[in-house]
Amino acid sequence: MATAETRRDELKAVWQQAQACTHCPQLAATRTTVVFGAGNADSDLMFVGEAPGANEDKQGLPFVGQAGRLLDKLLDEIGLARADVFIANTLMCRPPGNRDPLPGEIESCQDWLFKKLELIEPRVVCTLGNFSTKLLRADPATGITRLHGREEIRRIGPRTVRLYPLFHPAAALYTPSMLEVLRADFQRIPELLAQPLPDQPAPEEPELVVPEPDVAAEVTEAPHAPEPSQLGLF
Ligand code: URA
Repeated sequence: MATAETRRDELKAVWQQAQACTHCPQLAATRTTVVFGAGNADSDLMFVGEAPGANEDKQGLPFVGQAGRLLDKLLDEIGLARADVFIANTLMCRPPGNRDPLPGEIESCQDWLFKKLELIEPRVVCTLGNFSTKLLRADPATGITRLHGREEIRRIGPRTVRLYPLFHPAAALYTPSMLEVLRADFQRIPELLAQPLPDQPAPEEPELVVPEPDVAAEVTEAPHAPEPSQLGLF
């Protein structure tokens, strides 16, 4: 089993690779930064929002605007801080003009998200709003209004977690009744964290790759990747 340190190192390597992602040519051309996600790389609790907005795109960090301040407040109310959790998004790049993520963009970005889940190993994943909820439940037909506050055990990529859909904080900012529902749903997070880890899928057998002798002879040591400049992120 990989240690927290090994998983964190691997997450840093994935962060480095993600900086150059061009899976979505339009987003790659218009973004300022790739907002990989930030927080505790070994957290039991992970949040998945929608996509970076203008502030996040500038700073390279998720949820740094008004919705982020509300998220911080809600975390504080349950005795947690941003540094205790890991926060990511469905998309790592800002859609121009804050338009909704396109289905093809969500699909192109999902493997990055699954890799984060695999390496962070959370027990509880809170989806914030419709986009991450529909993606991680693999059910585009059922929206957050029906699902919020109802935990379920779900396999996501290589990991089985308690998935807990919540209203998006940006939506709750302007609708007091929604904020009260979000706050009440948030209050149940500590209880979910205290529940036993769901049974995990058996690890996949690594494929045995036998290099061709002449190919193997040409293999030279890979140059060291430069260190991420945002080590403090996680
Ligand atoms: N909204 C999101 O969904 N994600 C962010 O990072 C910021 C706002």
